Amino acid sequence: MSIAERIQRMTARRGFVALVSVACCLLSFDLQAAGTPKRRPAPRQRQQAPIYDVPEATRLMVIAPHPDDEMLSAGGLMQRVLATGGTVRVVYLTNGDGYPEGVQAEDHVESPTAADYRGYGRQRRREARAALAALGFGPSKYSYTFLDFPDGGLCLLTRSYWSERRAAFRSPYTRLDRPPKADVIVPDTEYRGEDLAQELARIIGDFRPTLILVPRKEDQHGDHCAAWFFLADAITSVRRVHPDYSVDVLNYIVHFYSWPFEDEERRLAPPPGLRGGASGWLRFPLTPAEQRTKRAALSRYSTQMLVMDWFLDGFARSNEVFSRPVPFKVMLPSRHNLCCEQ
Ligand SMILES: [Zn+2]
Repeated sequence: MSIAERIQRMTARRGFVALVSVACCLLSFDLQAAGTPKRRPAPRQRQQAPIYDVPEATRLMVIAPHPDDEMLSAGGLMQRVLATGGTVRVVYLTNGDGYPEGVQAEDHVESPTAADYRGYGRQRRREARAALAALGFGPSKYSYTFLDFPDGGLCLLTRSYWSERRAAFRSPYTRLDRPPKADVIVPDTEYRGEDLAQELARIIGDFRPTLILVPRKEDQHGDHCAAWFFLADAITSVRRVHPDYSVDVLNYIVHFYSWPFEDEERRLAPPPGLRGGASGWLRFPLTPAEQRTKRAALSRYSTQMLVMDWFLDGFARSNEVFSRPVPFKVMLPSRHNLCCEQ
């Protein structure tokens, strides 16, 4: 499903919820008119989520299913970690190349070829590097890794394309079934779930992050939801070898119905109808300078600004929101299709 179709569906659902809300309000108004409630109830205080504080010398690892997810979710948090003596490593699971509408708009072609999709992926990687550089910290403070797994295919890798028992997944866009050699961390890696989980476990074991940021499993994009399960599986593997290893895990969310681009507020409220996990929602306020820098970094994603600037703008607010998952022990493969058809 294209992003536009997804949004249309979300908006339709939201419209239904809004109708129900209006109906409830009208009903409540009628009841009040029929009864005699003399006292006006005190106005409800708008509850603020607690603030997340960055510990000094944090080793932050951000899992980004596509180039731009790291900046949308944590452009401010990454700046704060770097400014307080920490280090950042961004792991891009895919190049974001499986996006027909984006390639059509960028290349002015009606039917993109595999070469067009691959070229689009390379362009998005260049943008990711430029966006990280725009945060204003030297390359010695941060690093990034492109794993080059198939955009739009990660959910299938959690089950159907898990192991060598069957052929590796082949991207319907780039026609590749493995990352290029230059991007491979574990030898012989192909587009299989087992291989992606092993690469993530290797990166975690080497980098030893103290904080990992990863999408929530409730994120309605299949790649984002799958990213959670791959990360959880990888941490479970690392703990088998290093039982003393502990890491703080925070979740972010990017795709959830029509959140967050339907309102014009400067503050980013958590998605309505979604609970804040084990911690409740955590708010991370950005300074005005951090907001300006995040906006400048997002603008480096010109391929994405071309087709959905309104979506990217929805995340350029005065705060970011995170939540903690409940304690987990995940082992893939799953018997169910966890994240497909979200
Ligand atoms: Zn994404």
